[in-house]
Amino acid sequence: MPSVVLKQFTAGMLSQGTERGQRLAHPRVRRYNAVARIIKTLSSGEFFEIDMDFEFSEDQKMLQMMVRDFAAKELEPVAAQIDAEARFPAENIKKAAALGLFGIGFPEEYGGSGGGAMEKVIVNEELSRVCASTSIIINGSMGLAGYPLYKYGNEEQRRRFVVPIAKGEKLACFALTESGAGSDIAALETTATQHKNGYILNGTKIFISEGSEAEIILVFATIDKSLRHRGITGFIVERGTPGFSVGRIENKMGIRASPTAELIFEDCFVPAKNRLGNEGQGFRIALDAIDACRTDVAAIAVGIAQGAFDKALAYAQERKQFGQPIANFQAIQWMLADMATQIEAARLLTYRAAYHQDKGLPFLKESCMAKLFAAEAAMFVTSKAIQIHGGYGYMKEYHIERYFRDARILGIFEGTDEMQRLTIARQLLRGS
Ligand SMILES: Cc1cc2nc3c(=O)[nH]c(=O)nc-3n(C[C@H](O)[C@H](O)[C@H](O)COP(=O)(O)OP(=O)(O)OC[C@H]3O[C@@H](n4cnc5c(N)ncnc54)[C@H](O)[C@@H]3O)c2cc1C
Repeated sequence: MPSVVLKQFTAGMLSQGTERGQRLAHPRVRRYNAVARIIKTLSSGEFFEIDMDFEFSEDQKMLQMMVRDFAAKELEPVAAQIDAEARFPAENIKKAAALGLFGIGFPEEYGGSGGGAMEKVIVNEELSRVCASTSIIINGSMGLAGYPLYKYGNEEQRRRFVVPIAKGEKLACFALTESGAGSDIAALETTATQHKNGYILNGTKIFISEGSEAEIILVFATIDKSLRHRGITGFIVERGTPGFSVGRIENKMGIRASPTAELIFEDCFVPAKNRLGNEGQGFRIALDAIDACRTDVAAIAVGIAQGAFDKALAYAQERKQFGQPIANFQAIQWMLADMATQIEAARLLTYRAAYHQDKGLPFLKESCMAKLFAAEAAMFVTSKAIQIHGGYGYMKEYHIERYFRDARILGIFEGTDEMQRLTIARQLLRGS
């Protein structure tokens, strides 16, 4: 991560009154010193070696500490309340923007903070240990929506849309899913009909994270349904555009502070300059965005699992039954051991996927494995964390049930567990 990033992070941190001494004194800095040498074979039969070194650089450790402090000071006090009220945490999103968290992965000239996949993993894990909703809000904007706008946008689109997204001044959302097009994206029915110097959009998107808050909407529509995926095209719609409206807001099981909305396009005119990429390129753009952000979802799963585990470990040592802490019972120790093992395995898969991404290596299979395993690990760990808490774990007061509810989405959105398995199997059968 370039030093300019660090300066921005440090400046943001100090503006929030965080002392350097406090940061460095934090008790738990995770270290991965292991260097694994792996010989991989490409489908071409060619060999290449990967030295995977997961030891964080000084900049990455600083980033981890900074986000951990931010999560403890700003997110922890409100996480349960915004969940209960299903309230978008506008204030904390502004603070996250001031820290540069929306800018990771974007170059400085477009308002970014630099960094890459590993930095995003660090941020997502730390935020999700405390409040997965906040992490999902940031990711949806800078990742699923921001990344394709940067990668496929022309210079004018980058200036108009990517810069405010990277600075966290404007929130963006990614609108792909429809009632008849979930896993089968190519079945989408929102239409884009050419009209004068642009297109008229008609259709309804469902389950769009931050759809009700976003000012920039990346929406996918078809220019010709008979072309199936080859007709899908991406468009950028700005909030306030006539013909665009927000419909129903879902009442959800988890990640309740991240609003999930229906978006309605009724004769909504979009100028040609707001088309992203070429006509028919939308399917590739959407898949590319989902691929690029999959490791972030894995990191969110690791964070949720770690947060639940930390609470369970502490509770097991405090709670007494039969005259002793329940941590003395082997049944509880086994649960803790299994939980910790799942988390470490999920984290290593996640770091491996991020490492591949940052090195420009193939990462499709790796990121699918990371998301699949980490999502299932998060369910396992959060369920066991409730078990260790006994009846108190079932009560809202102990906050552990929120982790369980939040974890459930990870095997559904951005590709279900089944779709991850399908992709992994396809990669294996291709020899990747
Ligand atoms: C809280 C939340 C937030 C979301 N945010 C967004 C967002 O910001 N933007 C967006 O565009 N979408 C978003 N989504 C939509 C999400 O990506 C879809 O829900 C998801 O892709 C699954 O689609 P579906 O719900 O239609 O399920 P379906 O595709 O109908 O799947 C139902 C079941 O069938 C299985 N299945 C389907 N096809 C196959 C197959 N070929 N082989 C084996 N099993 C299969 C699935 O794995 C699943 O178990 C969000 C969803 C939720 C719940």
